[in-house]
Parts: sequence; structure tokens; C-alpha cells
Amino acid sequence: MSNSSLSNSMPCPICKTNIPFDPIGLIKGAQFACPGCQAQIGISGQEVPRAEEALEKLEEIKKQKS
Ligand SMILES: [Zn+2]
Repeated sequence: MSNSSLSNSMPCPICKTNIPFDPIGLIKGAQFACPGCQAQIGISGQEVPRAEEALEKLEEIKKQKS
């Protein structure tokens, strides 16, 4: 079991560098650059509802922990 995915960062799909991101910004369509290879990471409008759902689940988990 791993809880490492709860932090607001994700591995770059290209170079595997951990990319810190703001989940609220991500939902609003912001793009984040990978510090390792400068790849642009972001989500398209079609994926926003799914991202919001994932964020809500993340917040629920955080509440349970505190
Ligand atoms: Zn990268």
C-alpha cells in the first residue's frame, strides 16, 4: 500500500521526474512544466470532470487522516 500519490506531484510521463502541481490550477486548465525535460503537463477540458472527482476523493482521504 502506498500513499505517496497523495502529495501534489506526479511523475513526468517522459523522464519520470516528479512534477509538483497545484490540483486547483490543474482543474482550471493550467499547464505545468516538467523541471527535468520541460514537458508541458495539463488536462484538456474533457478530462476536467474526472479530475474534479479525483480531487474530491483526495480531499476526503485527507479529512479522514486528520
Ligand atoms: Zn520530464
